[in-house]
Amino acid sequence: MAQPIPTHAAIVIVGGGIIGCAIAYHLTKRGHRDVVLLEKSRITYGSTWHAAGNIGQLRSSRALTKIVTMSVEQFRSLERETGVSPDWREVGSLRIASSEERWRELEGAAAGARGFGFEVELVTPEECKRLYPYISLEGVVGGAFTPSDGYVQPSGVTEAFAKGAREGAARILEGVRVTGFERTGRRILKILTDQGAIRCDLVINAAGMWAREVGAMAGVAVPVAAFENQYLITEPIPDLPRDLPVIRDNDNYFYARPEVGGLLVGTVDKENPPFGRGGIPPDFERQLLPEDLERFEPALGRITRRLPILSELGVRDVVNGPLPMSVDGEPIVGFALDNFFLACGFVAGIGQAGGAGAVIAEWLTEGRPPFDLSALDCRRFSSSAYSEDELYAAAERALAHHYDIHDPDDEPR
Ligand SMILES: Cc1cc2nc3c(=O)[nH]c(=O)nc-3n(C[C@H](O)[C@H](O)[C@H](O)COP(=O)(O)OP(=O)(O)OC[C@H]3O[C@@H](n4cnc5c(N)ncnc54)[C@H](O)[C@@H]3O)c2cc1C
Repeated sequence: MAQPIPTHAAIVIVGGGIIGCAIAYHLTKRGHRDVVLLEKSRITYGSTWHAAGNIGQLRSSRALTKIVTMSVEQFRSLERETGVSPDWREVGSLRIASSEERWRELEGAAAGARGFGFEVELVTPEECKRLYPYISLEGVVGGAFTPSDGYVQPSGVTEAFAKGAREGAARILEGVRVTGFERTGRRILKILTDQGAIRCDLVINAAGMWAREVGAMAGVAVPVAAFENQYLITEPIPDLPRDLPVIRDNDNYFYARPEVGGLLVGTVDKENPPFGRGGIPPDFERQLLPEDLERFEPALGRITRRLPILSELGVRDVVNGPLPMSVDGEPIVGFALDNFFLACGFVAGIGQAGGAGAVIAEWLTEGRPPFDLSALDCRRFSSSAYSEDELYAAAERALAHHYDIHDPDDEPR
């Protein structure tokens, strides 16, 4: 039976994707009992359910790297704590350098990783082949193997966070749409929904690619756009090793991991089409976008040269879904108003949710985050009043830059 809408709650989270559920879980772990999460459809039904679930700890900033290492810790214990399996496969990930510049980037990243307490081993082309027998070594300079990376089942992780949150007394209300806010000065007084109003002390906007619309309801500009992202799943490969790592070859713009006996292959395509210009459709839920195999074509030649087995395998499925992307490609967290907190723009949110949930819960409980989050803080934007054209143009540049080579003196990627 549907739970009734409360008239008051201390903390209301908008959005039941992996980010909102992780925050609810960590708030209850810190003793918050009056937490309500509002989800317009069902939990996971936004960008979360169809994500590939790859978890890579080397990220674009120190804060994000730390956050993903915290998530990995949680993947190891979530089933024990909640009874729901995230299906965590700690098989490692192998990053291939197909250029000297990429190799130098990997060398810098490997040195940086030690400071975060996880190992990245630099390996020769021959060791790459031993770790990943399906690759051709043509043009391979070397690789970086991170044994503690892997992949998860995104819905399983989200369900686990949601179950843990419910056990900690959070109320997760599905089928409740937030329609507006009552605001005075820099404070939200009430959150308005299609089923009544809730007086609240704090609101967290974890609405993923809808965060801009939810922000606008509160008079807050949230610079988050959305783009299509696509992967394919091949027919099974006989005797595919169960412990095959995730492989990433950014010079050839792809990643791959095992999926039901075959390979899930994603292009890290620089020209993903924008989604939701003019507003993310409010009724979009658990939907995919039309598959576009032509978009794979230019990349497929490069990918097949690195993974020749692909030319022998049929395509079993293609998944094309939308994902949120902020104006500079990094998540957006922090107080936009005195009691309106942002937790959105997570482009790789499956790997970041657990750690982000923990640091946000600490911030909201102790008054400050556990480490420097300035790279993600919403106050980093000098102007948040982007026109839609400016927002999409900047987010597109950020997306294209995401897989470029980065100077090792930059923060680790
Ligand atoms: C094809 C593809 C592959 C991906 N692969 C990976 C990967 O390998 N690894 C990785 O880390 N990430 C991956 N991602 C990215 C990942 O999916 C997202 O970063 C993540 O799901 C974002 O989670 P979220 O909770 O912010 O958003 P969402 O899951 O979209 O959740 C937001 C929720 O807010 C709800 N909502 C919106 N408006 C309202 C309202 N007005 N009232 C109430 N509720 C509302 C929505 O219904 C939705 O459920 C991939 C994405 C795609 C598309």
